[in-house]
Order: sequence, then structure tokens, then C-alpha cells
Amino acid sequence: MDHDEAADLLARYPRLPGSDVLRARGIQCGPGWRSVVHMLCELLEHDIDNGGARLQVHVIKEKLGSLRVQATDASDYQRGLIAFASRLSETICEICGDPVAEHRAPALPALAARCAKHVGDEVPR
Ligand SMILES: [Zn+2]
Repeated sequence: MDHDEAADLLARYPRLPGSDVLRARGIQCGPGWRSVVHMLCELLEHDIDNGGARLQVHVIKEKLGSLRVQATDASDYQRGLIAFASRLSETICEICGDPVAEHRAPALPALAARCAKHVGDEVPR
């Protein structure tokens, strides 16, 4: 996902406040996580529409195999949604959206979320 997709995302969820940092950096993760990012934005916007905190989303990116979302002024509920999306992303290939391959020892931290087909591949930028 890139700058244009960040603009599209913010246009699609107009009541989800994205910061200038998010607009400038774009969404820094692969296309396989598009549905997770959209689901998260939809739920955050729904919460705002129902009186939830007006959080500011600054960063949406991949780091060490999971989706990271940095936001300020988020409620406990909103932080829970973000944590759930982050954990969910670890089970989905960042490149194609297929389930992540069970190729690593569970005690080891994931460095990249990849299906069997994309193990070792870089996200196309
Ligand atoms: Zn894949």
C-alpha cells in the first residue's frame, strides 16, 4: 500500500482522523493486509460515530511481521481493536493475504508474515 492508498483510505473513512504524518508517509504495509487495515478503520470509525474517542492515527506500517498502528488519544476499546488487528495480521501473508505458513518454532518471534508460497519474499514496493 502506498501514499495514494492512504489518501483513498482516509477518503473512505472520512470521520477517522488521520494525521498529516499518515498522509505524508502513506500506509507502509503489503497488499495482503489491506482487508485487516480496512476492517480496523471501519471499526474505529464506527466507534467514533457512536461517541468513541476521536483518536488521531499517525502511522500504519509493518514491523517485525505484524501490523503496527500508532495513534494518540485512543480509548482502551480503540487500543484493543488496534491490538487485535496487529495480532490478526501475524496470521495473514502480508504479500497475498493467504494464511501464514507454520514454518517457524512458535517460541520464536515472527520477522515477516508470509504464506508457504512467499516465505523469504520481500513485499513489492
Ligand atoms: Zn503469500
